[in-house]
Amino acid sequence: MVIFAGISRSCVELIYDHIFNLNPVPFLKIQREGFLKTMDNLTGLFKEAAMAIKNSRTMIITAGAGAGVDSGLPDYRGDKGFWKAYPMYEKLGINYYDAANPVHFGDDPAFGWGFYAHRIDLYRRTLPHQGFGLLQEWIKHYGMDYFVVTSNVDGQFQKAGFPEKSIFEVHGSIHYLQCTVPCSYDIWENTEEIPVDLSTMRARKILRCPRCGAVSRPNVLMFGDFSWISNRSDRQRSSYHSFLKNCPSPMVVVEIGAGTVISTIRNMGESLGRTYKARLIRINPRDYRISPPHISIPCGALEGLTGIQNALWSTGTCGAGTF
Ligand SMILES: [Zn+2]
Repeated sequence: MVIFAGISRSCVELIYDHIFNLNPVPFLKIQREGFLKTMDNLTGLFKEAAMAIKNSRTMIITAGAGAGVDSGLPDYRGDKGFWKAYPMYEKLGINYYDAANPVHFGDDPAFGWGFYAHRIDLYRRTLPHQGFGLLQEWIKHYGMDYFVVTSNVDGQFQKAGFPEKSIFEVHGSIHYLQCTVPCSYDIWENTEEIPVDLSTMRARKILRCPRCGAVSRPNVLMFGDFSWISNRSDRQRSSYHSFLKNCPSPMVVVEIGAGTVISTIRNMGESLGRTYKARLIRINPRDYRISPPHISIPCGALEGLTGIQNALWSTGTCGAGTF
């Protein structure tokens, strides 16, 4: 398991840069061969995960920022990662924590909206990668009960076809709005187009609260945020807890791209392991470690899910060609 011993952090980041950006880097190939050898190869892990899924009646999908990277979405990991996605903020000396801050909506709404309007447009244009479809196929094929828990605010699970009633967005959704005051607990869907001047990252339109006329903002939990209205997320949480009370055993948790910096998603999955005796499959190219009987799969979302899919297919018990 001492895979990165002796490797500097910058080298680890180089590996990550490759995995996330899919640039061929010879150095990575060497390390990946090391991965395969040390981890007794990915294929064995995929088979183990496939068996865990096949033998379960409930699937909880827990997802962090890494889940959408293979769809082309940035993950904002570190200042470099953020500035790579938003070079203008590097010129302005602003990092992710500064940009994703509710203070801008009061001080300078066009600037506050610039960051979120750009992301809304990006998420609307992005198609979820095939891994989302594979999860749905497994659920359907094995007749599983399921729920999605995600810290992502991008709405990609809904876009991939997962029903709203089976999703818990713990940090809210960028596709919904609330008042900045707030004058009420109202949360409403955002269907507006918001053009952004990319040279300044300032929005050319400011959305307003229909009730009081104050500036509105996305209904997502930002950094240092004391005015986020959590009612929508709370309702989803309530549905999730009701689901957990009634879902059949055994349970499998498929955790995808959940990081350690804000470990809400990882903690939730591990809690299911303890409380519901769930088997957790952790798909993560860097922070993949988890103790048996759980399964660590050291790769990106699409590679991991595709590998499990191939393993399910090759077992022959799911009806080869069905998927
Ligand atoms: Zn208002």
